[in-house]
Amino acid sequence: MSTFQAPKGTYDLTPPRSATFLAVREAISAPLRDSGYGYIETPGFENVELFARGVGESTDIVTKEMYTLTTKGSDQLALRPEGTASVLRAALEANLHKAGNLPVKLWYSGSYYRYERPQAGRYRHFSQVGAEAIGTEDPVLDAELIILADQAYRSLGLRQFRILLNSLGDKECRPVYREALQTFLRDLDLDEETRRRIEINPLRVLDDKRADVQKQLTDAPKLRDYLCDACKAYHEEVRALITAAGVVFEDDEKLVRGLDYYTRTTFEFVHDGLGSQSAVGGGGRYDGLSEMIGGPELPSVGWALGVDRTVLALEAEGVELDLPATTSVYAVPLGEEARRVLFGVVTELRRAGIAADFAFGGRGLKGAMKSANRSGARYTLVAGERDLAEGVVQLKDMESGEQTAVPL
Ligand code: ATP
Ligand code: MG
Repeated sequence: MSTFQAPKGTYDLTPPRSATFLAVREAISAPLRDSGYGYIETPGFENVELFARGVGESTDIVTKEMYTLTTKGSDQLALRPEGTASVLRAALEANLHKAGNLPVKLWYSGSYYRYERPQAGRYRHFSQVGAEAIGTEDPVLDAELIILADQAYRSLGLRQFRILLNSLGDKECRPVYREALQTFLRDLDLDEETRRRIEINPLRVLDDKRADVQKQLTDAPKLRDYLCDACKAYHEEVRALITAAGVVFEDDEKLVRGLDYYTRTTFEFVHDGLGSQSAVGGGGRYDGLSEMIGGPELPSVGWALGVDRTVLALEAEGVELDLPATTSVYAVPLGEEARRVLFGVVTELRRAGIAADFAFGGRGLKGAMKSANRSGARYTLVAGERDLAEGVVQLKDMESGEQTAVPL
């Protein structure tokens, strides 16, 4: 292993590609910030119990993918594998739900950790931007979140993504379906692990990616046929609202998600240019989660979009983000005196809000002009002893190539 190698399943964000990541985070969060969502940041690790209870003991995330550690003080911690449980925990701790202003709308951005088999689009450290709307059951809220995610992807110029939508029912109708599904699944030819899954979390079996399993599931009972009237009406309302907003989606009655806490509205964003890691984001309603982690009843809905896969989706579609050059003015001093004077000018420009950079290291004109070009700056300031003696600097317009002497 080379000394400079990042750990397996991880990679570094370095310029210039890192600028795209920042722009993606910005673009995903912008619609949220404009829609009443406040920023929340929680620790990179939590007590392991929060995820065991919140994400679910039977999920891959908890059974296989979590990075757990025991501290010197014998606390059992886990690097966060997802955001929702932490955000809800933090909102409860801060009593945000008691401030009399429901829903509590929050957005976050950060690093997440899952011990997965690394492959294209699947890493052990990845990055999400997410949103949670806590404490209100209202189909308009579910619709709002789906519409905002759609808006975020569109603002990035993505077109080849699809929205898959389903309802998972609630605590009235889901148990009835669960039992019917279990009865059906127990008769199939499945391996030990999957048989265990039937007993713990049968809906997850529907999500099995293997073709031979999928083939056996063709006649599985459909959740849609078991939804109670309240869930049906709720789901129809969500569908109508996002349709009215012009957001195109596909009903996908097999859509379940890797987390246990979802109820009713469930959705996933997939991108067709990504191969098997096609999910770029997902979310849904999680009306029971607060109680699962020991809080009051707080029906909520949220999503998380993966930044890494969104960047891959941009690359797959060949979308080049229009990232403005970060530097407007690049200063090239020729000689000691010019170094002091031009660095002073750069400092002044920066304080005036103009992005400026400087040719460091006393390089010659040629090398410095190369750097000026590479910086993307619109203007270069060049000054040597003679210019300074005349009280001027040479201002070069990098687009037209025109150079004029301007007073210092
Ligand atoms: P998958 O089915 O691909 O494993 P998931 O259901 O585990 O995805 P979520 O928990 O819903 O994913 O997380 C939301 C988003 O976070 C995903 O759509 C994806 O973009 C991103 N994501 C999840 N796990 C990873 C990972 N290991 N590497 C990179 N991105 C990830
Ligand atoms: Mg996963």
